[in-house]
Amino acid sequence: MNTMHRAWTKQDLRAAVAGLRGDVKFNAPLKDYTSFRIGGPADVLVMPADAEDVCLLVRQARAADIPVFVLGGTNLLVRDHGIRGIVVSLAKMKAIADEPGHVLYAEGGVGMPTLMKHATGRGLSGLEWAAGIPGTAAGCVVMNAGTKLGEMKDSVKAVRIVDPDGLIVECPASAIRFSYRRALLPRGIVVGVWVQLKPASKEKIQTTVKEYLRYRKDTQPLTLPNAGCVFKNPGHDAAGRVIEAAGFKGARIGDAQVSDKHANFVVNLGHAKAADVIALIKKIGRAVEAQTGTTLELELKIVGES
Ligand SMILES: Cc1cc2nc3c(=O)[nH]c(=O)nc-3n(C[C@H](O)[C@H](O)[C@H](O)COP(=O)(O)OP(=O)(O)OC[C@H]3O[C@@H](n4cnc5c(N)ncnc54)[C@H](O)[C@@H]3O)c2cc1C
Repeated sequence: MNTMHRAWTKQDLRAAVAGLRGDVKFNAPLKDYTSFRIGGPADVLVMPADAEDVCLLVRQARAADIPVFVLGGTNLLVRDHGIRGIVVSLAKMKAIADEPGHVLYAEGGVGMPTLMKHATGRGLSGLEWAAGIPGTAAGCVVMNAGTKLGEMKDSVKAVRIVDPDGLIVECPASAIRFSYRRALLPRGIVVGVWVQLKPASKEKIQTTVKEYLRYRKDTQPLTLPNAGCVFKNPGHDAAGRVIEAAGFKGARIGDAQVSDKHANFVVNLGHAKAADVIALIKKIGRAVEAQTGTTLELELKIVGES
């Protein structure tokens, strides 16, 4: 375990979360909040009631000099000793509003599948690419989530952010630098996203979504806990193909296993530790580099203390 000195006390933590209207849980096991079902505790997990609550939290955390980390939890590996300081989940911020001009506003905690379903119900096209992506709308902006059908950047019109001073600012898509699974945004917590969509036939949207969900079911290990793709695709090749060619399909350390359905997914067979997953992905990275000269870059975010 990392024994770095912590500059704050339990009292400081309590002061940082005082007066919030949302939920506050001390020593919250993050395995319960990640799709991998892995991860040690957060000193405190906060689920703010709304953007104003996020503002208050950010100001109070700053005053007490306590770090704040935000999670949706689906592209994340939390190490076994968890995260020190405050972890924020936007799980209570799930409102969607219809705006003029085929625009939807989603609070940051809205799940992508929910947003996509809402759009489909209104006959609005543009998010079909996201069928089956379990992240939050905010997390999908930050990661510029995408598939071969499209990316978040294709639909984002603007985002609402709580900045490090605890103030709400709005940022148009033109001010965000999107690249492959990455977005350079102003610092802060994304609390809302506007997406610009186009009218289309509901049946056509539903057909595209159904086909894509079937494709996912056929090619991805959706019945075991995982965190999506571990590595970014290197250049013009698919990371899964490169890892499979290196002989890693089915390889296992502890309860962490390279999926035998899709080699760029690591699945948790039951009681995998973050340390098992990290050992496995390090082994893959070293072998692929030795065999092909290709350095695989992580798509998965690894956070917390080992
Ligand atoms: C079965 C499965 C399939 C998947 N398929 C795909 C796919 O096809 N394409 C794809 O791109 N991804 C895929 N993913 C990965 C994942 O869903 C996306 O990367 C998604 O964008 C992550 O969103 P999240 O809300 O879970 O964020 P997290 O994974 O929790 O966080 C990702 C990063 O964003 C930051 N962050 C999260 N929320 C906020 C916020 N509100 N404000 C500021 N920063 C924030 C976090 O701190 C972290 O650095 C898949 C995952 C699973 C489990």
